[in-house]
Amino acid sequence: MTTTKIVIVGAGAAGLTAAKELQRIEQDFLLLEASHRIGGRAYTEALAPGMPFDLGVHWIMEPSINPLMRLAERDQLRLEKDGKHYTAGRYFDDGEWLPEGSDLELAAFWDKQLETMAQASRENRETSVFDAIDNDDRWATYFHGLYAKEFTRDVDQASVMDAMAFVTREEDLAVAGGLGNLMAKYGVGVPVTLNSAVRSVDYSGSRLKLDTVKGRIHADKVIMTVSNGVLSSNGIEFKPTLPDWKLDAIEGLPLGSHNRVALMFGKPVLHELPEYFTVNTAGDGPIPFRNHPFGYDYVEIVTGGRIAEWMEKSGEPATVDFLLAKLREAAGSKAVPNPDRHIVSAWNGDPWVKGAYSCAQPGAADQRPILAQPIDGRIFFAGEATTSIAYGSVHGACISGRDAARAAA
Ligand SMILES: Cc1cc2nc3c(=O)[nH]c(=O)nc-3n(C[C@H](O)[C@H](O)[C@H](O)COP(=O)(O)OP(=O)(O)OC[C@H]3O[C@@H](n4cnc5c(N)ncnc54)[C@H](O)[C@@H]3O)c2cc1C
Repeated sequence: MTTTKIVIVGAGAAGLTAAKELQRIEQDFLLLEASHRIGGRAYTEALAPGMPFDLGVHWIMEPSINPLMRLAERDQLRLEKDGKHYTAGRYFDDGEWLPEGSDLELAAFWDKQLETMAQASRENRETSVFDAIDNDDRWATYFHGLYAKEFTRDVDQASVMDAMAFVTREEDLAVAGGLGNLMAKYGVGVPVTLNSAVRSVDYSGSRLKLDTVKGRIHADKVIMTVSNGVLSSNGIEFKPTLPDWKLDAIEGLPLGSHNRVALMFGKPVLHELPEYFTVNTAGDGPIPFRNHPFGYDYVEIVTGGRIAEWMEKSGEPATVDFLLAKLREAAGSKAVPNPDRHIVSAWNGDPWVKGAYSCAQPGAADQRPILAQPIDGRIFFAGEATTSIAYGSVHGACISGRDAARAAA
């Protein structure tokens, strides 16, 4: 049996930042991580030597307040600016390329919908995004699909007030070497016990009892940074059970689907296709492609919402076939061979995350601060879902971890 002052559960962005803060203010703590690695939803694999690919977080958002940016600058990493990845590029629409400049039309429609959504939010209309926007316009299908890609749930499942609470002021930056790799560097110097899933937190007595796969730990306080996917599936048992107000907050902020796919071809292909293009097919909706990211010879596809969920359920081979069919439609079938290698993320199936990131249900936008509220002055909550203006992001998770550590210390 081990005894410590504070246990941090989970070594993703929030847990690592909480640990760094406790190190800084010289508090006794243990950081427990269920999996074999740190980083959580920040994870990079390699398609080939020297060709990294992020399965999770990819963009450094709000660089001026993002602790990973300081590391990227320190190590002079290659970064690419990109403000265009929402509506960027050319569109292959039901069998034909739309004229150049169509992206400007979509961008204008997009901005108009955001204004309508902002108005709904100012009027405190806690409705779905679908109910707030114009669904009859020719660009509505694109908005629906690309919105779900960014926010993980389809427009009818997403709260308009939650969407409008999210703040982005700065241009995102992508790290050529992989943001997951950068997160691994962020964790250097943080003591963490890996392969140590917490099974239960008993807060019925004067000290907390945490049962882990490696044994029992007694602690004064605990900082839970596990995802809402883990909390909502009762991945950790609380004794007594969490109060209803906390369970409501967890339920109101489910993790949606968002996956990243890379198709790598053995020789340079698809150079005739634009860097960014979207293939829109009736029934499937728009699927956005990025051709040769950072100049690497692969194609990146990012999906979100119901179609991402469906693709993940269909499995990896079916996903690759589905996406290849879209690529071949746009490129002409001869131009696209089978890929030599591919990577397909599957966050819903990750037992330590169970989804991509949180998106409030209509009516639940006010639940984020409630999710963040401690219980009994001893159980603290951090992680992306607990922040109202930077949910679904690494910088939001980091800020929440730092704040929870200060509150628990
Ligand atoms: C595909 C994808 C793309 C994304 N793109 C971006 C982006 O471009 N920019 C951006 O800023 N954000 C992005 N995000 C969101 C970002 O990754 C998350 O907001 C952030 O990483 C969450 O950090 P966290 O610490 O809150 O949670 P997590 O990273 O989920 O960390 C929680 C940790 O808890 C561990 N854990 C779970 N259960 C237990 C247990 N029982 N015991 C012990 N440990 C446990 C998990 O293994 C995990 O390591 C993306 C996410 C995904 C999935």
